[in-house]
Parts: sequence; C-alpha cells; structure tokens
Amino acid sequence: MEHQVNQTPKQHLTLRLCGPRGFCAGVDRAIQIVVLALKKYGAPVYVRHEIVHNAHVVEGLKERGAIFVEELSEIPPTDQPVIFSAHGVPKSVPADAERRNFVYLDATCPLVSKVHKQAVRHTRLGRHVLLIGHNGHPEVIGTMGQLASDQVSLIETVEDADKFQPEDSNALGFVTQTTLSVDDTKGIIDKLKQRFPAIEAPAAESICYATTNRQNAIKKAARGADHFFIVGAPNSSNSMRLVEMASQIGAKNSKLVRNASEIPWDDIGEGNIVGLSAGASAPEVLIDEIIAEFKQKYDVKLELAITAIEDEEFQVMRSLRDTELVAADMEFVNGRDKSGDLGVNAPSKAGGL
Ligand code: SF4
Repeated sequence: MEHQVNQTPKQHLTLRLCGPRGFCAGVDRAIQIVVLALKKYGAPVYVRHEIVHNAHVVEGLKERGAIFVEELSEIPPTDQPVIFSAHGVPKSVPADAERRNFVYLDATCPLVSKVHKQAVRHTRLGRHVLLIGHNGHPEVIGTMGQLASDQVSLIETVEDADKFQPEDSNALGFVTQTTLSVDDTKGIIDKLKQRFPAIEAPAAESICYATTNRQNAIKKAARGADHFFIVGAPNSSNSMRLVEMASQIGAKNSKLVRNASEIPWDDIGEGNIVGLSAGASAPEVLIDEIIAEFKQKYDVKLELAITAIEDEEFQVMRSLRDTELVAADMEFVNGRDKSGDLGVNAPSKAGGL
C-alpha cells in the first residue's frame, strides 16, 4: 500500500537578485594577495586591519595562517610579510614598517591609491583639500594620512560643507571616499561649489565603479520590494550605503545581513518581492547559501536586476605573480561551481527585470 505524504505547498516569492553585487576587483585582489603570500612564504603572514570588512573572509584567512593585527607594534620581529588592507594606510604606516625592518605588501586598492594621488596633487597645486567621507573609516584615515594635518579637512555632511571656513576660498580642492552614496555626495559637492565656486574637483572621479554599479542595481531592484537584504558587515561603508539606498528607493524593509541565519524568515510571506544584493566585500558563497535557503523554503521566481557587466581585474604586485593561484585557493569565498552561478555574466539564466 502506498503512503501519501501531505506536503504543504510552498509559498510563492519573487527573488530579485542584483548584478553587479559582491566582490569588486579591489577586494578580490586584496584577498588574492593574502592567499598568494601564504602560498609563497608559508604561515604566518601578518595583516594590518581586516583585509576587507567581512568576517567570513577574515576567518577563512585566519584558518589558512593569516594573523590579523590593528597596529604594527603588535607584530614581533619577523621576516614574514606584513600586508596592508585594501582600505589604504596613512604614509606613516609603510615608514613604520621600514623602521621595523618588515617586508610589507601593500594591498591598498589601486582606486584608493588614485584618490591618495589626487589629494596630494591638490596640495602640490597649493590647494587645501576637503575630503568628503566618514570620520574614523580606515580609508578616510589612510587618505588624510597622505597629507599634513593642516592640509586637509574632513567634510561628512551638507551641514559641514555649509559651516566650513577656509583660509583661502580660492585655493580649495576636494576628493571623496570611494564608497559613498553617489546621490548624498552630490548634495555635499553642490553645497561646496555654491559656497566656493573656485573649488577644484579631482582630475578623476573618486567614487569607484564598483560603488556606482552596485548602487545602480539597487535603484533598479528596490522599487516595490517588500524586503531588501544586503549581505555585508556593519563596518562596510559601501554595504551600509546599499541598505540606505534600498529604503530611499522604496523597499519597505531593508536590512543588512551577515549571512542566511540573519534573514527574518518568519516575516517573509506569500507573494512577497525580496531584493538581494551584497556589498563589495561580501563573498559570493554567502549569497549562494541565501539563494539555496530561499529555494528550499519557497517557490521562488528569480528575477535578475542587471545594470552592468564588470570585467575589471587588478593584478597583484609583481613579487607575487610567480606564485600560481588556482580556483581551489579562492573556493572559501567564491564557492565551488561557478558554472551555475546566477551572476552578472549569466543574465540569460533567469528572467530579467
Ligand atoms: S569598493 Fe572600489 S575602491 Fe573599494 S576596494 Fe572595491 S574597487 Fe577598490
């Protein structure tokens, strides 16, 4: 006799997956640098500050032999390499590393280094630098640390831009943190330009391609969404901007989640539209797990909100290029089988928005 199992039908749900999402070229490069350094020099390698702002990445690298410190003074005398994080460091840090005879590898994202150069260029041209960014963020500390303290002022808000009193309003230049909200930053720049018409922009845009692309995808996906989840960390600036943006665009609930366990599954109901993206430091394995759990719990209709195809790649430094990087080395962040990935390079695998 056959037993009939009465299964409750799964609730319907639309999952809008943003592309681009997750890792940018600068984060990918920084993680590769740690992985390759471990392969080339063996454990331990020391990393100053979280290499990128993601606990999964940091824990994965710790398991492989990386030791994370906040300051170089925590590292004992060693011949092993010391790596600086993707966010960039003040000029004093490599100088300190040299004093301590450390071999260091600078994993600063090339686009952050570009902002450093623009800030220095303003100064060389006799301008006081206004850095638009968030106080205390390592990237801001690193950029301000390229200049003497009286050569740069931090502007965090439109109010700051309104109150700032320069010594010479005809000798000002600005740069911004790479991971800000494009729209919020525009408000601050507009205010500065209105007050100081002679202020000079950087020769190249400071907000990076990855920030802009991820924000554009959110703009496409968030309208009408009942829930919007951004995979990332609370100290990840670009991730927090994505959460804010999803709300501003119209998602009813938008929330930062570190992984699938932080999704409030009980709040998601029949017919809901759920948006999903990830900050630039969040690995794809975490997104894969979330999608798998959605599919297990719900009858999912997948939509892709694709706004750009990214093909940027930043090479690691010359000294690591003779060490081979294979897919298995990055499996802990990228997952195993990329052929089935619902990523920006596979928009034909599901209905687009
Ligand atoms: S978010 Fe932009 S600036 Fe930051 S690491 Fe990625 S590419 Fe570089």
